[in-house]
Amino acid sequence: MPGYELWGEEEKKHLNDVIESGILMRYNFETLRNNHWKAKELEQAIQKKMNVSYAQLTTSGTTALITALNSAGIGAGDEVILPTFTFVASFEAVLSVGAIPVLVDIDDTLTMDPKSVEKAISPRTKVIMPVHMCGEMADLTSLKELAKKHNILLIEDACQAFGGTYKGKYLGTIGDLGCFSFDFVKTITCGEGGAVVTNNHDYYIHADQYTDHGHDHVGNNRGAENHPYLGLNYRISELNAAVGLAQFEKLDKILSIQRNNKQVFKDALKDIEGVEFRRILDEKGDNASFLSIFLPTKEKAKEASQLLVSKGIGNAYWFDNNWHYIKKWDHLKLLKTLAPLYKEHKELLPNYANADYTQSDNILSRTITIPISLLWTEEELAKKAQILRSSILEIIQ
Ligand SMILES: *Cc1c(COP(=O)(O)O)cnc(C)c1O
Repeated sequence: MPGYELWGEEEKKHLNDVIESGILMRYNFETLRNNHWKAKELEQAIQKKMNVSYAQLTTSGTTALITALNSAGIGAGDEVILPTFTFVASFEAVLSVGAIPVLVDIDDTLTMDPKSVEKAISPRTKVIMPVHMCGEMADLTSLKELAKKHNILLIEDACQAFGGTYKGKYLGTIGDLGCFSFDFVKTITCGEGGAVVTNNHDYYIHADQYTDHGHDHVGNNRGAENHPYLGLNYRISELNAAVGLAQFEKLDKILSIQRNNKQVFKDALKDIEGVEFRRILDEKGDNASFLSIFLPTKEKAKEASQLLVSKGIGNAYWFDNNWHYIKKWDHLKLLKTLAPLYKEHKELLPNYANADYTQSDNILSRTITIPISLLWTEEELAKKAQILRSSILEIIQ
């Protein structure tokens, strides 16, 4: 599943280029850097492979989301529609720009239900932000239609779905903006890092400038550059980008191992009555870092999760997870922030604690998700598939 599982000489080689030059900054220092531009090269590689006009690296997936929102001018009082099943970073990013996360139910794709999205659209809605959780795509056809109809933006949180596609296009490149994460457990990793991609020239220029204190990057004298507006420092370092470049070159290999291993697990379960697979809208585009299945009841799902762990098959029972589902987001429900939120901001936020997410509960309480490792040998994989099958049969009966 994470890129660190395939780690070696390639990472060392790119890192060494940077170490030998001693220039860790992604911009400037032309005469000292031995012509190494790891961040720039990685951006160009992403653009080329993913057939997207622009890529801007950032320090993380979280800062990629914040950058994307800023690039599109999303801020004070704007509503952003998000799913109840995501990682906390998605709504943290929205809150951090003064906007309002509006959480909607998921369906059996484990991504936002377009019907719930439509119901949540208000005059304040500026963005629909689908999250392609666990490597699989939200219903981008329906969401894009909705966005178009209501004249709002589609920003994809593709942090968990790098390399996945939908109808032949890379996830992240289909909406107005898309965000990726390369943190320590993502499909490819550079330690910490992220990227924003877009086909919109203005958004790209904003992202380029915003992530570097508003520097306009005109000319090659950093001190003489202009600052058309305020930004922040979300620049990736050349060290991180070097690792990212090595990892990016392995993307197809990572995806192909994942897809193969996942299929073996699916085959082991496919004829078991009572077990359903997560609905995947485009099987060919599955990034395949995880296998998610539904069991008939919450109790059985919990039991299965525990039994599998006891037999050495790691899995997530998201319904009880602190990081990924609304049920345990007490810090959000209680609006616990270090500094107080601005009064007007607070007044616009929905009451997350009282909202009814029965539809999401019904789905996620029956879901278990198994991460797919890149390191399993054929024998290990076969053995694990067998254990998976017998454990699930034991629970279902
Ligand atoms: C990992 C993740 C992020 C944030 O990425 P970081 O690089 O860890 O900041 C955002 N959204 C989702 C869905 C994620 O899984």
